[in-house]
Amino acid sequence: MPPVYSQTQLLIIGGGPGGYVAALRAAQLGIQTTLIEGAQLGGTCLNIGCIPSKALIHAADAYAQAAEQAQGRSVLGIRSGEITLDLATTLAWKAGIVSKLTTGVAALLKKHGVQLIQAWAEIVDGKTVEIRTAASDQAPQRIQCAHLLLAAGSQELALPSLPFGAGQGRVVSSTEALSFAEVPRELVVVGAGYIGLELGTAWRKLGAQVTVVEAQDCILPAYDAELVRPVAQSLARLGIKTLLSHRVEGLNADGTALSVRDPQGQLVELSADKILVAVGRRPRIEGWGLERLMLDMAGRAVKVDAHCRTSMKDVWAIGDLVGEPLLAHRAMAQGEMVAELIAGKKRRFEPVSIPAVCFTDPEIVLAGHTPASAQALAAAQGFKLLQAQFPFAANGRALSLESPEGFVRVLARADNHLILGWQAVGAAVSELAAAFGLSLEMGARLEDVAHTIHAHPTLGEAVQEACLRALGQALHV
Ligand code: FAD
Ligand code: NAD
Repeated sequence: MPPVYSQTQLLIIGGGPGGYVAALRAAQLGIQTTLIEGAQLGGTCLNIGCIPSKALIHAADAYAQAAEQAQGRSVLGIRSGEITLDLATTLAWKAGIVSKLTTGVAALLKKHGVQLIQAWAEIVDGKTVEIRTAASDQAPQRIQCAHLLLAAGSQELALPSLPFGAGQGRVVSSTEALSFAEVPRELVVVGAGYIGLELGTAWRKLGAQVTVVEAQDCILPAYDAELVRPVAQSLARLGIKTLLSHRVEGLNADGTALSVRDPQGQLVELSADKILVAVGRRPRIEGWGLERLMLDMAGRAVKVDAHCRTSMKDVWAIGDLVGEPLLAHRAMAQGEMVAELIAGKKRRFEPVSIPAVCFTDPEIVLAGHTPASAQALAAAQGFKLLQAQFPFAANGRALSLESPEGFVRVLARADNHLILGWQAVGAAVSELAAAFGLSLEMGARLEDVAHTIHAHPTLGEAVQEACLRALGQALHV
């Protein structure tokens, strides 16, 4: 049967944070837009990523706090009776948040006049996409477009020795680990990165025995040791076992345990009723005809320039598909920019910083240069670096939140005091990402932040004090 053709100006493949934000902005700018989503609107982030994971972490924190009170360990003097966990209700509450957000996205798309097609898209060429339908008696539908935006996201990485589903469903990805029907008795997590530590900590707080196996010699290997130390201490305090420099060999003979090799080469068996493999994600480049475009690639990612243009005219790519950093806010910012470029505006994707937050206990936030990258820049450009940090142990708000551990660190040029980067570790520091990002994008100097009146008592005062300290004027340390 010959295909049936229709036309649109902008065709977007993938309704995750990159794709749906691009669609909304394009429609606002008067561009005729069609969005194709094969699974659920909202993509990884809203359905099986950022949102459900943070909801689970919140529920786990609430449960752990109640357990502390019930066991008479609350320093606040709050005591309560026996506690129970109705996990089905917890998961239903989490699903409710996801559903509110995804139906909200659908409503926004409708309001803006975006045509939404719920189907899998197959690329035919740089101007044509075919919609896959299950019905064999229907003519294939093809959509032709002036601009094609690729926003197909990423997929979890599997370990060849530990495929998902092995051990009669023992080996799982983050998707299953967001919705275990019951709290695993023994959970082994492979990978001490974002997902492994966020979800490992949540399930520990909900009652599982948790062991984290990491190939490198530290947790969160991308971050500096001082920043990560409070998290490592908290893992130990929570009773999470961390096995560093261990190599995964696979399941044991009867499939009930994970075999790992310790740094001395000894084989160790870790019994587990669930094994979460969280060793990274990779761009989704297979199975939807992307190879037909023969685009330039950067490893497994689609290569783009500072406008998110691919190597083919009027074919754009954004989000996880274009590689690191795999963060929702980066995907959204790129989506918005591409829509504006197509509408004829002048834009470039050159942010001073893309903040990153790790929702561990305590949280970690980074924006701009790290100590290592700032040192490299200083050496290359021949300037001296100022680095200062302010401990939360000297911040009244942190103490009143029972969270004295952690600090805020600022990096700046010694010659003109331009702020180059921020890092913080501590309870609720994710919310400092806004102040960090803004100061970097506005080109703030240490004095700008140091002389801004910060409300008392807030964690933000540690941001101000870090700058005062860099200027040799700290008041509270
Ligand atoms: P995705 O969100 O992956 O969306 C791509 C969409 O394209 C999917 O819905 C997919 O179904 C669709 N698609 C693919 N191929 C086709 C096709 N051929 N036809 C039709 N549709 C197609 N990031 C953060 O910034 N903060 C966090 O706290 C955070 N937490 C996370 C927790 C977990 C457990 C995970 C797994 C990820 C987390 N991330 C977080 C990462 C974040 O989810 C991603 O960076 C983000 O979703 C990327 O957006 P995207 O639009 O590029 O792709
Ligand atoms: P990750 O890159 O953060 O961590 C993977 C970890 O697995 C690393 O520590 C790595 O050394 C380790 N590892 C790799 N191979 C291993 C092996 N064979 N055995 C043992 N350890 C091994 O990846 P992730 O945790 O899977 O998360 C994927 C992506 O999702 C992240 O890069 C991040 O961009 C995004 N994410 C972000 C957030 C957030 O923003 N809060 C939360 C979750 C996920």
